[in-house]
Amino acid sequence: MSQFAIPQPPVPTIPIIDSDALFPVRRVYCIGRNYAAHTIEMGGDPDRDPPFFFQKNPDNLDLSGEFPYPVKSNDVHHELEMLVALKSGGTDIPVESALDHVFGYAVCLDMTRRDLQGEAKKLSRPWEIGKSFERSAPCGALVPVSKIGHPDKGTVSLSVNGAVRQTGDLDQMIWKVPEMIAYLSEYFELAAGDVILSGTPSGVAPVVKGDVMDAEIEGVGSLKVKVT
Ligand code: MN
Repeated sequence: MSQFAIPQPPVPTIPIIDSDALFPVRRVYCIGRNYAAHTIEMGGDPDRDPPFFFQKNPDNLDLSGEFPYPVKSNDVHHELEMLVALKSGGTDIPVESALDHVFGYAVCLDMTRRDLQGEAKKLSRPWEIGKSFERSAPCGALVPVSKIGHPDKGTVSLSVNGAVRQTGDLDQMIWKVPEMIAYLSEYFELAAGDVILSGTPSGVAPVVKGDVMDAEIEGVGSLKVKVT
């Protein structure tokens, strides 16, 4: 049996509520502009824009409850998102059976170096420098489908230091969870361990060191993260 030439990097995992088992993460897909009000605040047209995705790195997920303010940015925004975790995958998955592939859901933040993302957009460059940095995806525990089913409506909200910044409802998603899975599977081979960040409602705004973010998705759970 072969040995690794260097120490094997750890497998990124997400804890599962009321379970000792961990969910191993293979890929992290993120949809852009999936709530009309956020699409408008970012300068897009919710009627015409087709869906698009970018990726974070699996090891950007962070379960610590702390978000260290990242380097090289002075404008770091919170984006509250529902994470969808897949237990199986495939290609060309029909919308009708797409939810059969979902293991569970979690509350997640797509933290964004907005200044660096803005420069990348202006120069038609990829977004990784603004999106895929260390600990950029604070995440809560997964709640299995067996406990909560498939939440498709319910309040999503994020407050900072007790003041509400983001509010919306899961039913405002432009592309619903089964549609996102089906669409992604036309372009990529999805597999067990893949997760999808399903987009953020309007109200994205900057954080500073010392801020405490309280995120909640009705029917899924809550997440408290301190900016350090
Ligand atoms: Mn996002």
